[in-house]
Amino acid sequence: MIKEKACRTCRFIVEDAKVCPNCGGNTFTTFWRGYIVITKPEESEIAKKMGITKPGKFALRLSR
Ligand SMILES: [Zn+2]
Repeated sequence: MIKEKACRTCRFIVEDAKVCPNCGGNTFTTFWRGYIVITKPEESEIAKKMGITKPGKFALRLSR
């Protein structure tokens, strides 16, 4: 099983990446809970609130 990790800056979830495709950050955590899938960030209020510009999976909570 692949352990997905979430970007600490914008919460973008990746399976294997050194740099976040959404914000370019390079710090990740595997301690996250829940996620939302954003398909059209330009039409999503949540995406705007969270500063999401790319479609993808985003963690709702980072626990560490
Ligand atoms: Zn990020």
